[in-house]
Amino acid sequence: MSAPLHPITSADLYPTSTPDTAAAALEAGLDVWRDLPAAQQPEWPDRAELEAVAAELASVPPLVFAGECDLLRGQLAAAARGEAFLLQGGDCAETFAEATADRIRNKIKTMLQMAVVLTYGASMPVIKLGRMAGQYSKPRSSTQETRQGVTLPAYRGDAINGFPFEEASRTPDPKRLLKAYHTSSSTLNLIRAFTKGGFADLRQVHEWNRGFVSSPANARYEAMARDIDRAMKFMIAAGGDTDALRTVDFWSSHEGLLLDYERALTRIDSRTGTPYNVSAHFVWIGERTRQLDGAHVDLMSRVRNPIGVKIGPTTTPDDLMKLVDKLDPEREPGRLTLVSRMGAGKIRGNLPALAETTKKEGLPALWICDPMHGNTFESASGFKTRRFDDVMDEVRGFFEVHNAVGTVPGGLHVELTGDDVTECMGGAEHIDDADLATRYETLCDPRLNHQQSLEMAFLVAEMLTG
Ligand code: PEP
Ligand code: MN
Repeated sequence: MSAPLHPITSADLYPTSTPDTAAAALEAGLDVWRDLPAAQQPEWPDRAELEAVAAELASVPPLVFAGECDLLRGQLAAAARGEAFLLQGGDCAETFAEATADRIRNKIKTMLQMAVVLTYGASMPVIKLGRMAGQYSKPRSSTQETRQGVTLPAYRGDAINGFPFEEASRTPDPKRLLKAYHTSSSTLNLIRAFTKGGFADLRQVHEWNRGFVSSPANARYEAMARDIDRAMKFMIAAGGDTDALRTVDFWSSHEGLLLDYERALTRIDSRTGTPYNVSAHFVWIGERTRQLDGAHVDLMSRVRNPIGVKIGPTTTPDDLMKLVDKLDPEREPGRLTLVSRMGAGKIRGNLPALAETTKKEGLPALWICDPMHGNTFESASGFKTRRFDDVMDEVRGFFEVHNAVGTVPGGLHVELTGDDVTECMGGAEHIDDADLATRYETLCDPRLNHQQSLEMAFLVAEMLTG
C-alpha cells in the first residue's frame, strides 16, 4: 500500500513549454466548460477582478503532484477489488479561522484512530483521504438568505464570502480564492509534516488518543492500542521489518465546485502530457452539479486525477451509466468512485438496481457510502442535525445491499471533526436536541464529533468482518 512517492523532478513543477498540437488540443479542452451551463457558481461582482485572480492562481505552485494522484488511483483500484477500504472524512466546510494546528491535528488524529480501528478489526489496509486542505466552497439550496426581513447572498464557503450576516461579508470576493489556495497549502504542509514526520508512526498509537475526553469509545480504543503495542513489540523482538509503520499516506480531497478555481489549478503534466488538477489528490462532483451536459462533468472528465461523483436517491441505472461513460470511458481501475448518499430510509430500496448495473457491466468503479447527506433534518429547537443511528443504519444498509448483490462495499465518506462538538444527535453520549446548543460550531452541515467518529469506526470494523 505504501509505495514510495516518485522523486519530484522539474517536470512536476513546470507545465510543458513546447505545446504540440495534441497538447494544445488538450489545453483547449480544459476551457470547454466555459460554454456549458455551470450550476452553483457565485455571482462575482467584478468579473475583471476574478480574472486577475484566476491568472495569478494559474501561476502558483501545485499543491499536489501528478505522481501522487497516480499512486492514490492505484490504491483506490485495490479498494474496488475489496483489498483495501477507503476512509474519506473531514468538515462539511473548512474555514480559514479553523485552519489552526490544533484543529488540523485533532482531525488527523481522529482519522488515524478510525483507520487503525478499521485496519486492526478487519485486517484491511485503510486509505486515508481528508475532506481537507481545499474544502472551502459549498453548493446551496437557496442563493439567498433572509433574516428579519433582510435578504443577502447565502454563505457559500470561505473561498467565496464570509459567514457573518452583513452585506460586505456576504458579497463574493475573488481575493478569497487566493486565501483558499494559501490556506490549503499550509494545511497540506501540516498534514505532510504530521504524517511523514513521525507523528503517524504506529508506535504512537496511544498518543493519538491523548487530549480527548475519556469515553467508552476512547476506553475501547485504549484496549485495542495495548493489543497493537504488544503485537508490535513482538514483531520488533522477532526482528520483523517495522519501517513501513513509520509514515502513512494521507491524501487531500474537496468538492470540485468552483470552476474558475479548479481550472486555474489544472495543469498539463509534462511527464505524461495529460492534465491533472493539482489543487488536491482527489476531487468529487456533488449531487447538485453532476448534470451530464454541465460544466462540472465536462471539466472533471478531462483531468487524470482519481475523481468521485455523488449518487443520490433519484439516480437511475441509465443516469449512472451515462455518468460513467463520461467520467470513466476507459473503465480504468481506481479512476471513478461512486459515492452513494441515499438516506437511511432509501438505501435498501434504491441502491440494489445501481449496484446490479455496475456488476452487470463489469465496471471497476469503487462504491463508497456517504451516510450523512441523505439524513439531515431540522431539530425541534431549530438546528440542522443528523441522528447517529440513522447514519449507522445507512452504513448497515450499504453493506447489506453490496453483500446481497455481490459488489464491494469499498469505503466511507463522512463529515467529522476531531473536536467535541454537539452537532449530530445520539451516540454513546446520547446528545439530544437540548444538547445541540452546547457546542454547535459548523457553518454548514453537522459533523460527527471525535467520539461519534470512533464509535462509527468500531461498528464498521464489525461490518467489515461480516
Ligand atoms: C457535501 O458533501 O457537503 C455535499 C454538499 O454533498 P452532496 O453533494 O452529496 O449534497
Ligand atoms: Mn455537507
